[in-house]
Formats: sequence, structure tokens, C-alpha cells
Amino acid sequence: MHAMVLNRIGAALEWTEPPDPQPGPGEIRIKVSACGVCRTDLHVVDGELPDPQVPIIPGHEIVGRIDTIGTGVQGLNIGERVGIPWLGHTCGVCPYCIGGQENLCDYPRFTGYTRNGGFATATIADARFAFPLGETGADVALAPLLCAGLIGWRSLVIAGKGEKLGLYGFGAAAHILVQVAKRQGRSVYAFTRPGDTATQDFARQLGAAWVGGSDEMPPELLDAAIIFATVGDLVPLALKAVRKGGRVVCAGIHMSDIPSFPYRLLWEERQLVSVANLTRQDGIDFLHRAPGMGIITKTTAYPLKQANQALADLRAGRFAGAAVLVP
Ligand SMILES: [Zn+2]
Ligand SMILES: [Zn+2]
Repeated sequence: MHAMVLNRIGAALEWTEPPDPQPGPGEIRIKVSACGVCRTDLHVVDGELPDPQVPIIPGHEIVGRIDTIGTGVQGLNIGERVGIPWLGHTCGVCPYCIGGQENLCDYPRFTGYTRNGGFATATIADARFAFPLGETGADVALAPLLCAGLIGWRSLVIAGKGEKLGLYGFGAAAHILVQVAKRQGRSVYAFTRPGDTATQDFARQLGAAWVGGSDEMPPELLDAAIIFATVGDLVPLALKAVRKGGRVVCAGIHMSDIPSFPYRLLWEERQLVSVANLTRQDGIDFLHRAPGMGIITKTTAYPLKQANQALADLRAGRFAGAAVLVP
């Protein structure tokens, strides 16, 4: 197989040719056909997540076909198209797993962070965490659904049913979520970097009811806001933009420090919460609904070998929507 490997935190990924991996009991091997590039991959490369492990193959928005099945795997077939998400393994016995919050498992493994991911021609996955994708939709178009879509979906559910929804940061997740939220009859208020008119135009095209810079107040108070950008300064701004009893959801795995802010921004039962990871039920709920929601992902495809360029372009905000690596 071929893979783009992170050998040292902060270094460029290196093109390598490791031996073909073999699935152990309960595992499958997937021939990768597309793998999305997520902001979290940058956090992995930059060493911003706890206990970084190297060498590691990043990538956790994997679409591919099963080509080998380990012992004891049931319900999956050779040749079947599956998606492999960020949540790669849970222990099944900790209080969180037992209590229906496997996203908070005490002993999890995460694809592309603590187990090898999809910046490769092949990968091994725990079969219980593979989502059958069916045959509708192109591989590249589906890849961003596996994290941007899924974490966006979980964030939307946690944001509640409010009609006026703010999205701070209009990247891969928000460009999917605006379509989902519109479909649900909500109005989306999209906040971008101040002056980023290209992204604002993009948000408008996808159906945002209002677009503006993150330093602007929306024309009316919001029921909820989701922060996808990794900028802690947005937290007090979002709290200011939601109504009494409104909720602000931080959807990222990493954020710069949140500045201190007056208590009155939180007062009146405003809520500030974070979203961590996903459960398999989130995946089932979202991926079952996705084909019927008519989501169109905007993707920029890069050859696998150009993974470093894709990461650099993501960091610099050089494309709209999502980057996807194709082996
Ligand atoms: Zn991700
Ligand atoms: Zn657990």
C-alpha cells in the first residue's frame, strides 16, 4: 500500500510504501477511494491534541470498499462500499459506553489520530465502526459527510430546534449544515472572517438567510449558534448574538483560549456547550437521512501524494467547501 505518513509532529507528511495491512479479528480492510481532509487533521499534524502518536496516517473521512474481512465480522461483505469516521473504537464497558454516550468513552481510539487513517490506498477499521454507504453518490462527494457532516449533524441536534441558527466559520461542516438546516425550515445566519466576501457569497448561494463578518451582530437575535471556527474570541460574540435561553455550541476539537467576558452575556439562561466526537447512532441517523436531503458537497480533489498541499490550502482557506484526497 501507499500512505502519507506523519512521522514527526509539525513535519510534512511523507509518501511511504508500508506492507499491506492485514485485518485482525473483528476488523476489515478497506481499499480507500476517497478521504476528506478535516481541520482536525491539522490539529493532529500540529500536535494540538493530547498524547499525539507518531508515526500515524491521518484522515478520518474515509470512503472505500471492503477488500478483506477478518474473523468474526458479521453483516459486511467484500466489495461493499463503507465509510469510516473519526470514532474508530470504543471500549464498550465504561460508564459512558454503557450509558449511551460512547462519544465520551474513557478508552476510545480515533481514526487518523490514535489509529491509522485514510490518507492511504488502504486502511484497517474496526468493523463495528464502519457505516455501509450504499451505492448512491460519488465517493469524493460522500467523504466530507463522514466528519464535517456527522459532527455538524450532532452539533445541530444539540443546538436544539430553534428556527434562527447562527453558524460561525463557514468551512466544510457549515456548508453541509446550511443545506440540512434549510431543509428543516430554519433560517441560517452565516458568520465568516470579516471581509471574506468570497466565503460570504458561497454561504449566500447555499441558502444562508443572512451573511456577515463574525464581528457583526445579526439583524435579530438567534435561537442558537454553532461555532466551527477554532477561534475562542467567537464565544462571547456568539453569546451576545443569541436570545435569552439560547444555546451556543462549540463544535471543534480544539480552540484558541476564550477571552474573559461579562457574566451578563451568559445570564438569562443562555447555555454554552461543546460537542465531542460522535456516536454510531449519530452516523446511522445522519447517513440514513443524507441521501434524501439533497446535500451537495463542494469538494476540491487532490491526488493522495498532494496531501501536504491540501492541508496547506485548508490552513490558508484557499478553497470553499471541503478538500478530498484521492489515491
Ligand atoms: Zn474531522
Ligand atoms: Zn468506553
